[in-house]
Amino acid sequence: MEILPAFKAPARLLMGPGPSNVSAEVLQSMSQPLVGHLDPVFVKMMEELKTMLRAVFLTRNEMTFPVSGTGSAGMEFCFVNLIEPGDEVIVGVNGVFGNRMVDVAERCGARVTKVEAPWGQIITPEQIATALQMVSRPKLVAIVHAETSTGALTPVEEISRLTHAAGALLLLDTVTSLGGCPVRLDDWGVDATYSGTQKCLSCPPGLSPVSLSPRALEVARSRRTKVQSWYLDVNLLASYWGQERVYHHTAPITMNYGLHAALRLVLAEGLENRWQRHQQNHLALKSALAAIGLELANQEGHQLWQLNPIRVPAGVDEVEVRKRLLNNFNIEVGAGLGPLKGKIWRVGLMGETSSRENLRQFLSAFCQVLNECGRPTDAQAALSALR
Ligand SMILES: *Cc1c(COP(=O)(O)O)cnc(C)c1O
Repeated sequence: MEILPAFKAPARLLMGPGPSNVSAEVLQSMSQPLVGHLDPVFVKMMEELKTMLRAVFLTRNEMTFPVSGTGSAGMEFCFVNLIEPGDEVIVGVNGVFGNRMVDVAERCGARVTKVEAPWGQIITPEQIATALQMVSRPKLVAIVHAETSTGALTPVEEISRLTHAAGALLLLDTVTSLGGCPVRLDDWGVDATYSGTQKCLSCPPGLSPVSLSPRALEVARSRRTKVQSWYLDVNLLASYWGQERVYHHTAPITMNYGLHAALRLVLAEGLENRWQRHQQNHLALKSALAAIGLELANQEGHQLWQLNPIRVPAGVDEVEVRKRLLNNFNIEVGAGLGPLKGKIWRVGLMGETSSRENLRQFLSAFCQVLNECGRPTDAQAALSALR
């Protein structure tokens, strides 16, 4: 066939639910020469990755490393290793990712009890306590910390206490929370977690940082049945990521370079500073929205800093606004999903994307588009509310 022109990616401002913008430093790290997946230089880098991930997750868990694959691979990793057919699992469902966990758990043969909250609201400790009483032998409680589909941040500590009192393990989805707001695995007693690279860590999608507590690892090690996924079996992966360095699958070399560079940037900024930056830009966006009569659609007091669900004002074509932002301004924002489809825009302020400059750029474009779409909006009012 005729050779097509080389693909050329436009420079978008990525203000959706992920991926977020990636720094030049991370992209440059990924254009370095390849080395082999058993090269001593790469092996040393793998050790550094594990150390940096422990620092970012605030954990001493030995079994902390990046699974090859996106956040959903990390989700499957946790369930396939911890769950055997017939196990009882409680899953908090307040958005898309809670539903995905139910699906994955059921595929592992789990007997799933759903604890549901309206989209945009959190899962409460009271709900979990009730579910724990209803289930005879709960093995695992799974919660989405930061629900990217709705913008709800569910507090973890009390749920963790209840879960452990009932003798179960706590699994926490930290895909969107890690690097954007506090995640304290050891302080909170989280037994298993998976995250993703393309949200608040600002690295391209392709790896899923995971961590298992010694207790969770023991559960995976003492299973009666084989882990049904060969690719995600922690017992096999441990021989590659641990001291033995036995070939399991070819690690995505370049992705690991990128994660190394991204984690260096996270730690150089400092976790506290990074969280504060996400908080401040969220609050700035919120006051700018108030100045133009718009509001967020998630539960007050539990709003994510890194994902802002803006309620679509009456009479405005939700799809048209996103289209114009993308085509005329190179800005991507996310659509609502499920019951929130057509009702919200999801504006991500994740990692690199979370800056005052990007907020200004977004707000002036957004206000102009709203005006074009028949909703008179004072851009100056929005921008001066930013300060
Ligand atoms: C994005 C996301 C996932 C899935 O990650 P992928 O990288 O898309 O596979 C899971 N959970 C949450 C909360 C997410 O935001």
